[in-house]
Amino acid sequence: MSLPVDLTYPPEAEAFRGEIRGWLEENLPEGWGEPGFSMTHDERKSFEEEWTKKLAAGGWICSSWPVDYGGKGLSLLQQVVLTEEFARAGAPLRADFFGDTLVGPTILQWGSNDQKRHFIPGILDGSISWCQGFSEPDAGSDLASLKTRAELDGDEWVINGQKVWTTQAQFADYIFLLARTDPEAEKHAGISYLLVPMKQPGIEVRPIAQIDGSAEFNEVFFTDARCPKDNVVGGVNNGWKVAMTTLGFERGTSATTGYRRFAKELDRIIEAARARGKERDPLVRQRLAEVWCAVKIMQINGYRTLTDTLNGTHHAAKLGACNKMFWSETHQRTMELAMDVLGMDAQILRGDPGGVEMSGGRTAARRGRADYPVDELQASFFFSRSETIWGGTAEIQRNIVGERVLGLPKEPKAPGA
Ligand SMILES: Cc1cc2nc3c(=O)[nH]c(=O)nc-3n(C[C@H](O)[C@H](O)[C@H](O)COP(=O)(O)OP(=O)(O)OC[C@H]3O[C@@H](n4cnc5c(N)ncnc54)[C@H](O)[C@@H]3O)c2cc1C
Repeated sequence: MSLPVDLTYPPEAEAFRGEIRGWLEENLPEGWGEPGFSMTHDERKSFEEEWTKKLAAGGWICSSWPVDYGGKGLSLLQQVVLTEEFARAGAPLRADFFGDTLVGPTILQWGSNDQKRHFIPGILDGSISWCQGFSEPDAGSDLASLKTRAELDGDEWVINGQKVWTTQAQFADYIFLLARTDPEAEKHAGISYLLVPMKQPGIEVRPIAQIDGSAEFNEVFFTDARCPKDNVVGGVNNGWKVAMTTLGFERGTSATTGYRRFAKELDRIIEAARARGKERDPLVRQRLAEVWCAVKIMQINGYRTLTDTLNGTHHAAKLGACNKMFWSETHQRTMELAMDVLGMDAQILRGDPGGVEMSGGRTAARRGRADYPVDELQASFFFSRSETIWGGTAEIQRNIVGERVLGLPKEPKAPGA
């Protein structure tokens, strides 16, 4: 049964909100978020470096993590307020997505004390960057078909195989990797979750060029690559369970703030429609209204998720699957609308050649190349195409909703699968 959603926060949460607002005012560059504020490429780079240090000093990166491992131990509600205030100010709140959101929480849940001591501080201060080595050429949605192998040789695992679509592999210090450690075991058994250093001779990274010319993700080849025996998280041959935890984090974060980026984008699309007189076109108005309603639904669903989480009635996989499917499909429709509103202007490279270069920076602007300067709406349009794929495709989310939320019969498997 659904719980009633309370949209007010207790006074102590509001007091904490004031504290965060004060910190942001003190630390953000002058004029941040005001109309006309801009940074050159170099200014942006140095802002990103400085900002990560400031976040780490404030304790705001992964602030709910335990004090024993260098976190601030914030409550869930405090963390929500923190995320809301950073989102309101448009200030970045992470050092490294893969570290903060995926492997960090996984190590905290499954890792040994030594692993926590070794890896968590580097995630908290942004000094270790990570990439995710799950997908392979023949193992995406059907991840358990993965073939990359790891074999013990004395005190080390020796890894051979190939990963693909590995975002940020060209910049990462470590990869959290799924490898088959018992080839005789059943498909979902015999997999281990390894933490492998990237900068070693046995690893070759080949960038994959994307539609907008940038190369954000890669093929990664392992030929006798090595990692210490103790870098298995959650036990040898237990990697499937551990990986499912990581995917749960990937599908279920930023409950009450996720909608904001879509709301901001909608404002920009409305602005673009007004500038072209298209706000008077009844079909455009209707599509804008549909997006507005969808953004409201995301906002309210976010509060529903928070209410359930605070009351312990949360089922991450169920809510995460519904939310992922809804926002990713809505966003694609929204960005198609944006391109229709821009009309012929959408065909022109409208970005700032100096401003959006893809870099290894932790909070770097995501897209584009100096010689293919897409603007933010164009970049978002391109990237929205991938959003129904990464983190579990929309079809897979539908399977999860069908089977685990609605209790429908399980999808038939091919013989031998
Ligand atoms: C931008 C981006 C970044 C990524 N970053 C990473 C990363 O850092 N690390 C990493 O490991 N991976 C990453 N991936 C890979 C991503 O996880 C996979 O692309 C995804 O899991 C889908 O796998 P696949 O591409 O092999 O497609 P497939 O699994 O081959 O799917 C092909 C099509 O078949 C459908 N389909 C498959 N199985 C079923 C089924 N059972 N029922 C119904 N339909 C089905 C799918 O929905 C899809 O439409 C990234 C992908 C993208 C797009």
